[in-house]
Amino acid sequence: MEKDLLDYLRQALPDMLTLLEQLVRLESLSADKAAVDRLGRFLAQALREAAAEVTFFPQTQTGDHVMGVWNRGAGSPITMLLHHDTVHPLGSFAARFRVEGERMYGPGVLDMKAGHVIALFAVRALQALNALPRREIRFLSTSDEEIGSHTSRQLIMEMARGASLVMVMEPALPDGRLKSSRRAVGDFTVIARGRAAHAGGNHEHGINAIQEMAHHILRIQALTDYARGVATTVSEIRGGTARNVVPDYCEIHVDARATHAEDAERVAQALLGLQPVLPGASLEVRGRFERPAMECNAERLRIFERLKAIAAPIVALQHGPSGAGSDAAFAAALAPTMDGLGAVGDGLHTADEHILIPSLVERAAMNALFLLRW
Ligand SMILES: [Zn+2]
Repeated sequence: MEKDLLDYLRQALPDMLTLLEQLVRLESLSADKAAVDRLGRFLAQALREAAAEVTFFPQTQTGDHVMGVWNRGAGSPITMLLHHDTVHPLGSFAARFRVEGERMYGPGVLDMKAGHVIALFAVRALQALNALPRREIRFLSTSDEEIGSHTSRQLIMEMARGASLVMVMEPALPDGRLKSSRRAVGDFTVIARGRAAHAGGNHEHGINAIQEMAHHILRIQALTDYARGVATTVSEIRGGTARNVVPDYCEIHVDARATHAEDAERVAQALLGLQPVLPGASLEVRGRFERPAMECNAERLRIFERLKAIAAPIVALQHGPSGAGSDAAFAAALAPTMDGLGAVGDGLHTADEHILIPSLVERAAMNALFLLRW
C-alpha cells in the first residue's frame, strides 16, 4: 500500500502543483470576504470533483466556511481541519509567486494552501487505489483562522466532538517535525484616563495618562518568562493630543502567549487586575485568551507515537512545539488531535513564504495512511 500510494502521488505531483498554484492565485486575505469566498467556491468544486458532499456555512462578517464529507454517517470519523484565509494583502501573488528548484514561493502557499492540496490528494490517492476506508472523513476549511476564528470556533468544536482523530493540516515545523503543542494566545487592551491640562500654565492640575500607562507597560513586559513559555508584548500604543497638553488618554494593546493553561490564567488575572497608580487616574482593561493552549501532555505523546508508527514506512516523524496559536487548540480539548500535518517549508506570513515541493508527495502519502490505519 505504501508503495502504491507513493507511486500514485509521484505521478500526480504535476496536478498537485497546478492545483496549488490555482489556490495561491485566488488570494484570500481574511478581511476580504469576496476574495475568501471566491476561493471557498473553488475549493468546493475541487471537493465535488473528488466525490465529496459539500456544505457551505454562510457568514456575514467573514468568508463562508466550507466542508466536504466522504462516507457520511460511517463510524470512527476523522476530521481534517484547514483554513483558507491568509494574512497576505491582495496583489502579493503577482509579486511573489515563483518556482525555484524544489521550492514554490507564494502568499499562503505554506499557510496553508499546500495543506488543502495534501489533504485532497490523500483522499484521491486512496480512491484511486480503491482503498478509501469506510469511515466518515471530513474536510473542514474555515475562513477566519488568521483573525482569531471567532465565527468558526463553534463549528470546529462540533466537528471535533466525537471524532476519532483531528488532523490539523497547518504546515509542519521548518525541519518537518509535527506540531505537538501550541501556545495559548491572548489579546488585551489597556486604557488609562487622566485629566488634560496646559503643559505649561496648568501642569499641576493635569493627570498624565501616558505617565500612568508607563507604570503598567513595564509590569506587563515583566510577566514574560521564557523558561515557562510565557511572552507578553505591549505591541501598540496610542495617546496624547498635542505637544503642549498633558494627555488625558493612553491606550495599549497587549499580545500574550503561554505554553501552559495555568500560566495563561495567571497572566490574564495579572492584566485584568491592574490598578491605577497616579491619584485621580483610572484604568480599564479588556480582553482574554482567545485561544487555549494545546499542551504536549501524555495524551499528545501517545497520539504522536501512534501516528509515528503508522507513518514509519513513509517518513521518520518527530515532533516539537510551535510558538504560535492555531485552531488545533479548540479541537484538542475534545478529540485526539495532532497539528502540523501539512507541507514542509518556511517563511510563513512573510514575503519569503515557500514550500518544499517534494513534501507534497511525502505528506499526502503519510496522511493517506493516517486516514486508512488510525
Ligand atoms: Zn495557518
